[in-house]
Amino acid sequence: MKKKIVIVGAGHAGGRVAQILAASDHDLDITLIGRESVPPYNRPPLSKGVLLGKSQLEDCLLWRPEDTAWDKVRFLSGTAAKSIQIESRTLLLDDGTKISYDSLVLATGSRVRHLTVPGSEAEGVHVLRTFKDAVKISRYFKTSKRLVIVGGGFIGLEIAAAASSIGLKTVVVEATERLLSRIAPRKIGDALLSRHQRQGVEFRFSSMVERFLLSSSGKLKGVLLSSGEYIRTNLAVMGVGVSAEGALAKSAGLEVDVGIRTGQSLETAVNGIFACGDCASFWHPLFERHIRVEAWQNAEDHARVVASNILGEEAACNAVPFFWSDQYELSMQIVGLPHLASSAIAKHLGASTLLYHVDALGRLVGTTGLGDSGDIGKHIRAARHAIAARAHPRFSALQDGVAEDIFL
Ligand code: ADP
Repeated sequence: MKKKIVIVGAGHAGGRVAQILAASDHDLDITLIGRESVPPYNRPPLSKGVLLGKSQLEDCLLWRPEDTAWDKVRFLSGTAAKSIQIESRTLLLDDGTKISYDSLVLATGSRVRHLTVPGSEAEGVHVLRTFKDAVKISRYFKTSKRLVIVGGGFIGLEIAAAASSIGLKTVVVEATERLLSRIAPRKIGDALLSRHQRQGVEFRFSSMVERFLLSSSGKLKGVLLSSGEYIRTNLAVMGVGVSAEGALAKSAGLEVDVGIRTGQSLETAVNGIFACGDCASFWHPLFERHIRVEAWQNAEDHARVVASNILGEEAACNAVPFFWSDQYELSMQIVGLPHLASSAIAKHLGASTLLYHVDALGRLVGTTGLGDSGDIGKHIRAARHAIAARAHPRFSALQDGVAEDIFL
């Protein structure tokens, strides 16, 4: 009997698990279940090429349709898993089908947060999570005069960079008083703010959307802010964060905190059930805590670990998290977990900046870079090794470094 592997979620993590298993020389029965109607694709181009109409689905696909490994995968598109029966090792699908598994991989990703203020369901108010979302927004990009982005985080800023590069007047409404408060130090957020302002992007800090106003035909016509300001627009995109999609796991009785809880092998407390990618809250041996990471690299690293464990090769996820964002000519790269730090040492390389984040014991726990991707890339790679080696950087070696508080 072939071993039955069922993967729920056909995003990057799930798609890569299927691909790695199919390409192995093990004879497996692999089923990949995806809610969307399209095969697994890379998400980074959504907020860039796809929004600008320069990239099509074929350019984003994780693996080519003609790849023969696909023949080994039963891909159920447009299908959702409804429940898991742990005792009988079966999964119930939304079309009533039951399938059994030997190993189950939960790669359910993230659920995008929606604002619940009046009018948020209007035509013209969007989120950007799927390829379909990006195509819808890109149609508006061709005709709209103004774009309002809610949220000055990673998604909001990538959309602002794309929109302003084609001359679309863009206003970013951010609830806090600075950009990128979740993932980057203030210094980096402020540097990006200047670059966006130079491009003509406008910002409203410490502001919330009070309501979206609609025309008589139900289309967006403007946004009312908490300050009383009214911005006329037919296009708004919400980039106000995501949370792990853990509902299926939770209803099966698996432990879910900020994500589906696993050990370092990415196996949950139930033998044979794994969580993978954005949805996993996994034990990281280096940082000695459970973490959840929303990043392309994390999906890639997790997929390898899960596939190895299914194939009987014991693997643990100890990769140092890595995250990047490209905006205009600037590359922002982050390794490790900067929020664990108590201080940072800045190093300037021409127009590029690196921040080395050190914890209370003097250990390097993260590094953030902003600037030319080549310039900062090599330092970020070196930092990644140093973090993995639990290095205590010599401050003097950082030359022009000055210690300063971060996340002020
Ligand atoms: P994403 O990955 O969606 O960009 P982030 O967490 O990086 O998520 O950024 C979300 C940003 O949205 C944060 O800067 C947060 O302060 C901001 N935000 C959250 N809720 C609101 C809101 N109601 N109005 C404006 N900004 C918001």
